[in-house]
Amino acid sequence: MEKYIKDFQEDRAVDFSQYYTDEACEKYNRPDKIAFSLIGDNPVYIMGQPTLLSAGEKGDTVRLKLQFSDSDTTGNINTYFISNHIISFENSEPVFLVNLDINTSPWKKKQIRNITFHYPEYHHFKSNQANKLIKKIDQLENNWDLSPEKIDYYFTKTRKEIQHIRGFDFNFYMGGNEVPTGLADVKDNLVFTSGLDESHFHEIVHIYLNKKYPDSPLKEGIAVYLGGSLGHELKWHLEKLNTFIKNNPETNIHNPRSFYYLDETTNPQYAIQGLLCYLAYQSGGTDELKKLMEYNTMKKIYTDYFNVTKGKENEFLRKQIKKLPVQ
Ligand SMILES: [Zn+2]
Repeated sequence: MEKYIKDFQEDRAVDFSQYYTDEACEKYNRPDKIAFSLIGDNPVYIMGQPTLLSAGEKGDTVRLKLQFSDSDTTGNINTYFISNHIISFENSEPVFLVNLDINTSPWKKKQIRNITFHYPEYHHFKSNQANKLIKKIDQLENNWDLSPEKIDYYFTKTRKEIQHIRGFDFNFYMGGNEVPTGLADVKDNLVFTSGLDESHFHEIVHIYLNKKYPDSPLKEGIAVYLGGSLGHELKWHLEKLNTFIKNNPETNIHNPRSFYYLDETTNPQYAIQGLLCYLAYQSGGTDELKKLMEYNTMKKIYTDYFNVTKGKENEFLRKQIKKLPVQ
């Protein structure tokens, strides 16, 4: 375990085949579903220092519970997450098992077209909602000339449960109020979502389009534009931005450092990215969106695609938001 965590901390490419069963390595490119689930493509194990909270046997496995935290000079402890690690023995060599597979083994499954839905036993599957999602996927594939991706889609009612199945007892996404959440694991074509049942399209957009446009800085924008965010359509978020700019004429909304937080349900920079996608679509449909997604820097998107003079982005965005049709 210690060496495994050190591999991540020392920034070495971790060779999962040294630590996981062959079966897990065949099934997943990244069998550790804890490692890359909190801070994007950075491994969670670089946050703080690990403390072993408990170790015990269950059947023929050993279960470890680790806390990753650090403390400040006054002794206050900041805990990033508490995770569970299941160790089995293959030819008397220790190997990790995949929490996700073990925790969801009693779950129900339903496959429709290219999506396998995985959900807890208490849930009553809603076929009409799932079919609506499939319809959107079909449209996405047609509009963007993409072939179907085989996706495993895990959903729960609450965000605690969706973190729990991957192996967390606690992390900083598990507190706070209950809002819909989602995460796309693009490396292994997995979607994790809470609060939206069978209808979370945003993360599916990521699985298709992050692969097609890996260098686009608008990956979040296109997902918000096509699939909404945190349970609301882009329009809803833009109406909030509209109110914000009226009340805050001094804020440079283009600058993510001065405008990174609006409230719990709207990430303002994602909404602005979504707005740029909306504008491209308005000027020429999906063909224009495709052109926009080919750019690899925000700078070029403003200067070359939207013809905005450098330094005038804030004015440009404010003008576009004010012009939006209000309902
Ligand atoms: Zn997203």
